[in-house]
Amino acid sequence: MRRLSLQQLNWEQFQADFNALAAIGQNETGGMERLAYTEADQQAHKLLADMAVEAGFEVKWDGAGNLWITRRGTEDENPEFPPMIVGSHMDTVPDGGKYDGLLGVMTAFHAMRQLDLFPQRRTVTLIVFRCEESSRFNCATIGSKLLAEQLTGEMLKRYVDKDGISAYDAIRELGGSPDNLYLERKYIKEAFGFIEMHIEQGPVLLERNTEIGLVSHIAAPHRFRITVEGAAAHSGACPMNARQDALAGAAEIILAVERLGKEYAEQRIVATVGKCDVLNGAMNVVPGHVELYVDIRGIDREVITEVVTKLHQELSLIASRRNLRIDPAILSQETPVKLNDEMSELLVEQCLKNMLTFLHMVSGAGHDTMYMAKLTRAAMFFVPCEKGISHNKAEAVTDDAVQNGLRLMLATLVRICNWDPETEREKAEMDRMLLDEAYN
Ligand SMILES: [Zn+2]
Repeated sequence: MRRLSLQQLNWEQFQADFNALAAIGQNETGGMERLAYTEADQQAHKLLADMAVEAGFEVKWDGAGNLWITRRGTEDENPEFPPMIVGSHMDTVPDGGKYDGLLGVMTAFHAMRQLDLFPQRRTVTLIVFRCEESSRFNCATIGSKLLAEQLTGEMLKRYVDKDGISAYDAIRELGGSPDNLYLERKYIKEAFGFIEMHIEQGPVLLERNTEIGLVSHIAAPHRFRITVEGAAAHSGACPMNARQDALAGAAEIILAVERLGKEYAEQRIVATVGKCDVLNGAMNVVPGHVELYVDIRGIDREVITEVVTKLHQELSLIASRRNLRIDPAILSQETPVKLNDEMSELLVEQCLKNMLTFLHMVSGAGHDTMYMAKLTRAAMFFVPCEKGISHNKAEAVTDDAVQNGLRLMLATLVRICNWDPETEREKAEMDRMLLDEAYN
């Protein structure tokens, strides 16, 4: 067992390339402004494409504007050696951090480059997905959803940014054609598998002092807008016992959501009210109309349904107790995604070889991997970020954490690129015989 060395990782070059990309779209205060399909996002895509061409890789953009970078292996033509795919995103939230998305992309790209040092039978393709963040169009993971047929061009016309430009038009503007992804979809479906590396964006790895998080499930959000209607009244003239205070009712709902989240924490539920609007609110008015935005996530559909059902029961109790009208409207209901165990096993094997500590965990945040999992065997791993802070310019990742991620990505790619189906079949047969012998 031996760790890949810093020399094998070519650490200096990685840093130079990463920093060149991270400089694009940086504002005066050090925050990142690379909103999807904007000038800065385009610039980042072009710079990475130039680096890829220089490294001798093939480059293209698909109908969604996703960037594809391919390094051919020696068995490229052999159907027994389908290609391996890696990927993440480069777009950011406004005033975002340097590492969200970009670290995964650059780690994968750099690992592909370092394959120079190793035999490479299987072809490797890196996909840089467009518009992973929902910041611009209120719609997340557009590039991967289009690939997985979870969105169509027609649907994209409904998502508009603050200037009235639709996601559809933004893609067309760049020469894309969002419904034309048939060949790319087929390529992914026939691939060996998919791996994404990402920063954790939470505190679990740091708290457990662990180097790598292997994602077993990606939690899916159920989102509601809850409208609470009471009766607006004069705050001086309306006596306490005659009130239908929508905001006081909303406060009970917020606490109920938190209580349910805590009650089901063991079953990996998190529940949040992240936004509360008091319509026509004023200091001297008893609030008559409030809107709450609720986000409930978990990894098991049945548990989520149970929590949602209990919340509905709470809502009708609060409504009758306070004489309010409470209407929940579903905004989105996504299915939790279980990732592939065989691909995850390959990551475990390389963690052990490289002496990296790891744990299996759930991703509370959504990622492009959710949609790749609909097309191929998908796996994902996390490296820790300082204090678990993300979507914020204070986002930070230590050199050690980056190097560990790079190690795992490179070692796994080397292993997969030379994963020979014939030898693996023989090995499995041998294992089976040994087991039989042991039991007879
Ligand atoms: Zn991200």
